[in-house]
Amino acid sequence: MTAFKDLGLSPAIQQALDELGFVEPSPIQEEAIPELLAGHDVIGQAQTGTGKTAAFGLPLLQYLDPADPEVQAIVLTPTRELCIQVTQALRSYAEHLEVEVVAVFGGAPIRSQQSQLRSGAHVVVATVGRMMDLMSRHSLVLTSARFVVLDEADEMLDLGFIEDVEKILRMCPSGRQTALFSATMPPPIQKLAEGYMYDPTTIRITPKTLTVDAIQQAFIEVPAKDKAEKLVDVLKVEEPEQAIIFTRTKIGASKLEQTLKAKGLDVKALHGDMSQGSRDGVMIAFKDHRVRLLVATDIAARGLDIEHVTHVINYDVPNSSEVYVHRIGRTGRVGRTGRAITFVTPAQREEIGRIERDVKTSIGEWETPEERLEHAPRPRRRRERGEPSERQREREPAAAGDRAEGDDGPDRDRDAGGDRDGKAETVKLFVNRGERSGIDEEDLRWALREGAVLPDEAIHDVRVLHRFSFVEVDPAEAERTVEFLDGTKLKGKEIRLEVARS
Ligand code: ADP
Ligand code: MG
Repeated sequence: MTAFKDLGLSPAIQQALDELGFVEPSPIQEEAIPELLAGHDVIGQAQTGTGKTAAFGLPLLQYLDPADPEVQAIVLTPTRELCIQVTQALRSYAEHLEVEVVAVFGGAPIRSQQSQLRSGAHVVVATVGRMMDLMSRHSLVLTSARFVVLDEADEMLDLGFIEDVEKILRMCPSGRQTALFSATMPPPIQKLAEGYMYDPTTIRITPKTLTVDAIQQAFIEVPAKDKAEKLVDVLKVEEPEQAIIFTRTKIGASKLEQTLKAKGLDVKALHGDMSQGSRDGVMIAFKDHRVRLLVATDIAARGLDIEHVTHVINYDVPNSSEVYVHRIGRTGRVGRTGRAITFVTPAQREEIGRIERDVKTSIGEWETPEERLEHAPRPRRRRERGEPSERQREREPAAAGDRAEGDDGPDRDRDAGGDRDGKAETVKLFVNRGERSGIDEEDLRWALREGAVLPDEAIHDVRVLHRFSFVEVDPAEAERTVEFLDGTKLKGKEIRLEVARS
């Protein structure tokens, strides 16, 4: 077990951690703290609740010289709440240090913040807008700010703050040390890092895709104009105990709330245009199960830890696979199954393929229970395999029993593929190449037959998508298939194979 003292932190900081009951550093802390203490720029990516504040906060505090009255470090945060939260955390870590941590944020009198800055601040924790304001009034100068942190950077992106962040970074000394912490790393944030950081060390604590395993995922292709109506149908069919419905915009969220209300559904919206008070009210009502459906934007729902959400509905397709994982992670918590249903317009159809590739899972088309019954799982494949349907019936109860409490009937399994629960008679392999690499089904079948020496009857399903493919083989052959084909070339391109996570 690594202890905080092994990371090179000062006794005064360690004492504060002891008093706070921090015994062991979290993974992001264990990796980021030594890097930052060594003076490197760091990009730290880890899910919400993994201790990112101390990961940058402890090295930041250790870096400060209490005798120097200038602002030596700044932390930029996207919202007032986070600004206050980070300030409180830094103050608690700095309990035994002679340093002042000052918070500046909008929605509070600027004068008192100005006077706090005048009486000395070693660290300023700020929202972007208020910092710009204070700089323009010359109440805050950053010429000595050599330690700069962008916290929850992906939320700044959502709020369209990047330009201001860049302006602030340009006001800081060029020899500064910069740390960027975020739960996800969308391209604009990556670009910001590339432009404003010096040879950063990237530390990525991969989110537990585990959660994804317990989640049955499906998509629905529907024209934009029919989405609301389709959603109502889906809710009727799925009967969620509680669902979070994600929209991309605040306006979208309140519109959808109105539409669903008009249909008599028990729904509340949660988005950034609401006052803090009413947001808190909605959250409490949802947590207490007094509201069944929550329509939320990503920001509003970020960091929410809500148990027992049976359904996550992506009413608007998430704009990155990370956001997808983030969103659907709200369901399927320990020991329960959850359902995640993603709406796409015909033009967005390709997005599903992208998510399937990134998350290495396959997402089937959503079906009503009638359709599922009619089809029985994957009818096309069943017929190809010529399997007796009795076997399917035998297997299903067992599979459902495997899932927690059986609170979902076996028919719930259907569109997730009856053979995804591990002891099915096929194993699904992920292949990193697809149509785009000029590979088609025949090529893959050929590779399986000739390269992995599989008999035809051991090859069950080959599905070629745009950028990657899935093949299903007999479990007994899976290991050999990976061993023989992984890293070999097909049509001149190196192919990688691995067992698909489901
Ligand atoms: P993040 O920014 O990654 O969402 P936070 O920094 O807000 O996470 O930390 C989440 C919670 O975990 C906080 O309540 C914090 O006090 C606590 N925490 C952080 N690091 C540790 C640790 N090493 N040991 C115990 N608790 C910790
Ligand atoms: Mg944080």
